[in-house]
Amino acid sequence: FKLSLNSFDEHHVLSNVVLVTLIDQSQLVSLNKMRSDFVAHASHELRTPLTSLDGFIQTLLGVGVEDPQLQKKFLEIMQLQVARMIRLTNGLLTLSRVERDEYQLITQKTNLRTVLGQALEEMSIKMDLANITFEYNDITEHQDAFIYADPDQLFQIFHNLLENAMRYAPLGKGKVGKVICDFYFSDNDVKWPGAGWVVAISDNGPGIDKQHIPRLTERFYRADDKNGGTGLGLSIVKHLITRHRGSLAIESTKGQGSSFLVWFPTIDTSLSEVSL
Ligand code: ADP
Repeated sequence: FKLSLNSFDEHHVLSNVVLVTLIDQSQLVSLNKMRSDFVAHASHELRTPLTSLDGFIQTLLGVGVEDPQLQKKFLEIMQLQVARMIRLTNGLLTLSRVERDEYQLITQKTNLRTVLGQALEEMSIKMDLANITFEYNDITEHQDAFIYADPDQLFQIFHNLLENAMRYAPLGKGKVGKVICDFYFSDNDVKWPGAGWVVAISDNGPGIDKQHIPRLTERFYRADDKNGGTGLGLSIVKHLITRHRGSLAIESTKGQGSSFLVWFPTIDTSLSEVSL
């Protein structure tokens, strides 16, 4: 630093120092604001089901509800609120873990097809129980589909997307819910940064209005308040994909359904090496 004092006049150097400090401060301020916004938003999201629970408990304890049918109805609504709070706290914990820098990804050479298979196995049972038709098309020509990944985090990406597809598919009016998962290799699609593996999870649910699509991966963002969701699943997905140097594309037609496409780069982009 002393060296630069020789080449600049003192005022110049000082104004540079002041500028550097200002940038630093403004980053700190926006980071602090982001944190307090996050806490405010999280508290608000938790307060809504808590207030509702409080209301039901007061009614049950206070005026009392004689009708056992009505009591059961109240308890069922309360159970839904508790389930939502559990989803919220689980989502918040995962999100803060994912966002924390010290949370390291343990990457290893991972067969994408194997991890996808595990997520599909778990979800296909659930879809079966929920009467949702499920289809899987593996159209990759390559035996092995290796990427550098943390298998647990990879699983979480597919799990969240499949769970969303399953939750939203039956909401398409008058239709039988259907979820399709396509797995393929993309050579030169301009949609992606290069050659890589693509997992596309599609449903015939209600679809999403165009204006919402760019904001869906923001924390707490929900296109529709009525679905009882937390707005955290896709922000977790987006984070995890980015940390794997992957890419996410969302395509949707209102009234017809949605597709969530995830792209991952191949190892060394050399297929022969990958299949060794
Ligand atoms: P959640 O579903 O819990 O609200 P997400 O972050 O997973 O949170 O999704 C954010 C929003 O994106 C949802 O509230 C919903 O409006 C929309 N969305 C996500 N997946 C789908 C889907 N498969 N079909 C229609 N809308 C979806």
